[in-house]
Amino acid sequence: MSLRITEECTFCAACEAECPVNAISAGTDIYVIDESVCTECEGYADSPACVAVCPAECIVKA
Ligand code: SF4
Ligand code: SF4
Repeated sequence: MSLRITEECTFCAACEAECPVNAISAGTDIYVIDESVCTECEGYADSPACVAVCPAECIVKA
């Protein structure tokens, strides 16, 4: 149960601070989600917080 960030990521960093479990970090060219940490915001929000703020709409189901 995790999301992942696609190559469309513009490296804007908007999603990083929104993650309640700190699953998002800067990779080399794109931001990345640690799939062993992401809970899809279960227990924190009704929908994934990172998806809500991503201007590139590049966060998808893993
Ligand atoms: S879905 Fe929620 S827990 Fe998973 S990476 Fe996005 S903000 Fe973090
Ligand atoms: S909000 Fe979207 S475009 Fe911005 S760093 Fe996160 S995944 Fe990449």
